[in-house]
This record gives sequence, structure tokens and C-alpha cells, in this order.
Amino acid sequence: MTDVLIVGAGPTGLALACDLARRGIDCRVVDQAQGPGTASRAKTIQPRTLEVADDLGVIDRVLELGAVHVPTRHYDRGRVISEAVEAAIGTSEPGVPYAPVWLSQPMFEQILRDRLTELGGRITWGTAVTTVQEDGDAVEVSMRTATGEQSITARYVIGCDGGRSLVRRQIGATLQGVSYGDHRWWLGDVRVQGLDRHCQHLWMSPEHGILSLFPLPGTNLWQFQASIPADDPNPVQPSLDLFRRLLTERAGLLDVTITDADWLSLYKINVCLADRYRIGRVFLAGDAAHIHSPAGGQGMNTGIQDAYNLGWKLAAVLGGAGPALLDTYELERRPVARAVLEDSTARLHAVMRATRDGDGSAAQRGLTGDFTTGLTIAYPDSPLTTPLPDSDSARVRPGDRAPDAEGVQPGSGRTVRVFDLLRGPHWTLLTFDRGHPAPCSTIDDPLRTVRITTDTKATGPGVVLDTDGQIHRVYDIREDSAVLIRPDNYIATRSPIRPDTHQMTTCTAQPS
Ligand SMILES: Cc1cc2nc3c(=O)[nH]c(=O)nc-3n(C[C@H](O)[C@H](O)[C@H](O)COP(=O)(O)OP(=O)(O)OC[C@H]3O[C@@H](n4cnc5c(N)ncnc54)[C@H](O)[C@@H]3O)c2cc1C
Repeated sequence: MTDVLIVGAGPTGLALACDLARRGIDCRVVDQAQGPGTASRAKTIQPRTLEVADDLGVIDRVLELGAVHVPTRHYDRGRVISEAVEAAIGTSEPGVPYAPVWLSQPMFEQILRDRLTELGGRITWGTAVTTVQEDGDAVEVSMRTATGEQSITARYVIGCDGGRSLVRRQIGATLQGVSYGDHRWWLGDVRVQGLDRHCQHLWMSPEHGILSLFPLPGTNLWQFQASIPADDPNPVQPSLDLFRRLLTERAGLLDVTITDADWLSLYKINVCLADRYRIGRVFLAGDAAHIHSPAGGQGMNTGIQDAYNLGWKLAAVLGGAGPALLDTYELERRPVARAVLEDSTARLHAVMRATRDGDGSAAQRGLTGDFTTGLTIAYPDSPLTTPLPDSDSARVRPGDRAPDAEGVQPGSGRTVRVFDLLRGPHWTLLTFDRGHPAPCSTIDDPLRTVRITTDTKATGPGVVLDTDGQIHRVYDIREDSAVLIRPDNYIATRSPIRPDTHQMTTCTAQPS
């Protein structure tokens, strides 16, 4: 018997397990594989996912092992045309602390596994879920292990079991979408001699298509990607010889050699969305719920955001909150997945068009945008969001992600980031004033209340001095106000505090 059974120890399942473990939820993770996967697959951790990594306590390790601002060198066969770092769109704005980090999926998963161990969680490998049956009060799950069949009863089951999800099939949800039969890629993790590792190398030509070699940080491997010609009805299976031949044909660098490979693959692009994310006590998250083109680097990132959205809601309901809170998971996350599917498909077509035109820079530009950072994802129409009156033109609005900014701790003068205040499983109420504290002491655990004031004489615990007004500016505070922030660091509501009574005029989305 367990409260939550997570099926699948990929990035989605691991992020969810970390989030639940830090909230003290009884949770088990099982995976049919005998151990962690080693193929690189995703290699970009987007800014919003880095903010989740910050909250889950793994950001330092990610920044230590990953690389930022990796330049791309464009070639015309053996001749270098240009070398530049693609601007990390949106990340130079105030309130955005992290630019995209390049780190291979297996290394990020290792960081999450280490964190899960620290939090007291563990993964049972070699355990394949075979049936999932929901009976209203609980879910009965059968599993096949090396020693035979086992069963477990869980209050909730989360299918984080990837694109071929058995959990999805067991609950009768279906993936709906299309397969882009003519968008296929040879992929692999290879070792290369004779190539500069400080940048990504990219060859594009209307004649041969795309070839790229990306140095995977923290390893001696390169991720190899080569497009398969659209008119090839029957592409050959990937092999070291094939990859060497493609390198010679498309790159023409005779002094560069692929020495060996750890992973060789042929990848076909499907774009699909599950028709529902939940049946009763069983939920889908990550690739089990949505799969799409890797253009824009969204798959792993979207799965982790799913987990981050679901974790606090499951913990709240297990702790006594009304079960209707769980309905908001699909309401909030399925539209995001739909938008990711559309965006990544549009990017794929843009890249293929740029390739036909032989324009490598356009292709590279087509891979990133404000949307891919994950920072623009918002839940303005969620039942958990209190909309502002039409007359209120605040730039930072309920439903938006809570931005970061810096203030100062009274007494010590130490810098305090808003993200320091948000980090952890609690809700946060930020009250903003320019000299008169708001009476917020009646609200306590699980709500952290912080007074953010420009009054430099203010002291005491729970006070942050906004000496130069940066936090007020980033949150677009124009009068004394309160901002209520959810555990996944989205703004639930904001409202003015009336100067005469110091009462908030509206604050309907209380944690209860
Ligand atoms: C070539 C390539 C490049 C990519 N590039 C990017 C990128 O740049 N950025 C990005 O964000 N994403 C990228 N992705 C997508 C990313 O790899 C996936 O979105 C991500 O792995 C999904 O994570 P997940 O945890 O949902 O599922 P998975 O990683 O698929 O994990 C599912 C887990 O469930 C286990 N499992 C399956 N069935 C069962 C069962 N019945 N019982 C128990 N366990 C089970 C599996 O063994 C597996 O460990 C790329 C993918 C590919 C293939």
C-alpha cells in the first residue's frame, strides 16, 4: 500500500518523486528498465525548468555540470561561415535569473536521482507495471519483476511511463495526432577526434540536409543528428559506418573522425496529445500525455512542468484539501501541451524550410523563442486564478509565473532573492508597502508571509528591504498590495491593500 505510485523513472517521474518526497508524501517509483537510461536525448534545460530545479534544490549541481551560451559554428561543407551564440530570448529581462543550460538528459536524471535519495526516496528498477485497475477508493496495480508477479494498492497512480505508456492504455485514454513520416533522423552519441568541443557544429545544405554534432557537457561524447532525405522510402538502420559516411558527405572534414558510438538510433517524429490526463485516481504526465517534435527542446521540459504542477496538488489533497483541486491539473496542463505541440511543429517546418534554402542561421534561430523558455506559460483562465478587474493594467498578473528579484535582509544587509522566499513546498504571501505594514499575521502555515518594504527602518523576521525598489518594479507594484503565490510559484491573486484599513480588498484564492 502506498499513497502515490509513480510508473516510470524518467525525468517526469523523478521530478514528481522529488517534489512529493520533500512534502513527506509516501510514494514509490517503479521502472521496467534494469537501470537508468544512458542515451543523451534531451540536452537543453530551459529557463523555467531551471527555476523548478532551483525550487527542488538541484540548481547548483545543474549549473556546475552544464554549459551556457554554447556557440554554433555554421559551415558550408569544410568552410566556416559564421560562429555565434544564439541569444537566449527573454532571459536578459529583470526577474529571469537563468539562461538555457546545455546538459544531457541522463546527467540531469542522475542529479534528480541523487536528490531523491537525499530526500529518502528510492526507485525500484526491473519492475514493469502490467495492469492498472481503479476501483473508486484506490488503484490496484500488478507488476512483473525478476522474481515474479507482485501487486500494490495505491491511492493515486501517475503514469510517467513515456510515449508508449501502458498506464495510458490501461485507463482507456488515447493519443490523438499525426506521424510526420517524412521527418526522420539518424541520431547517436558518438566520440569524435579532431573537432573543437567549445561549440556545436552545424552543416546544412539543400542537397544533403542537416548534420550537427553537439558536444555533451561533462562527457567526451557528441550528440550526432542527421536528417534523413524525405524521399528515402526505406532508410538504412543506423551504424557507425553510416555515420562516418554522412560526416564525410555532408561536412567534408577529412581530418575529423568518428571513433566509436554509445547509442545509434533512427527517430521518426510523431505529434500527439492524450485525449485526457486523468481517469479517477490515475493521471498521465510527460511523454505519456504528449509527444512532439524535438525542435525547440520542449519534451523533457514540459514533462517536468507537468510534474511540478501535479505534485503540490496531490500532496494537498492527500493532506485533506478538496479533491476538486486535482481537476485543475488537466485544465491547466493540457492546453500548455497543445501549445507546445503547435509551437514545436511550426519550428520543425521552419527548420526544414531554412535547410532547403541552405540558411543555417535561420534554421538555428527557428529553434528558440520566447515560448521555448517556458517562462511565458501562464494559467490566466484556471479556477485557481483570481482575474484582475479590467481596469487594472498591472503587467505581472494572476496566472503568471512569479518573477525573481533581489532585496536585502534587515540587520545583516545580506541579499535576499524572491526565489529564496518561494523555495520550498509552501504558499507565499508577499505584502508590498512603502512604510505601513499590512496585518497578515493571522495567516500562517502552510503559508509563508513576507513583508517587502521600501521603509529602510523596518526590521524583524519576515521582512525584506526593497531598498532600491527592484522587487516593487519587477512585480509592477503601484500601491500597497498583496500577492499570493502558489507552491509551484505561479501567482494566484494580487490585490491592493486599502490604505485606510490595511485590509486586502479581494483575496479569494486562499490555500484552503
Ligand atoms: C532525439 C531526442 C531528442 C530530444 N531532445 C529534447 C530536448 O532537446 N529537450 C527536451 O525537453 N526534450 C527532448 N526530447 C524529449 C525527451 O527525451 C522526452 O520528452 C523525455 O524523455 C520524456 O520524459 P518522461 O519521463 O515523460 O518519459 P521517458 O523518459 O520516456 O521515461 C519513461 C520511463 O518509464 C519506464 N516505463 C515504461 N513503461 C513502463 C512500465 N509498464 N512499467 C514501469 N516502467 C515503465 C521506461 O523504462 C522509462 O524509464 C528528445 C527526445 C529525443 C528522442
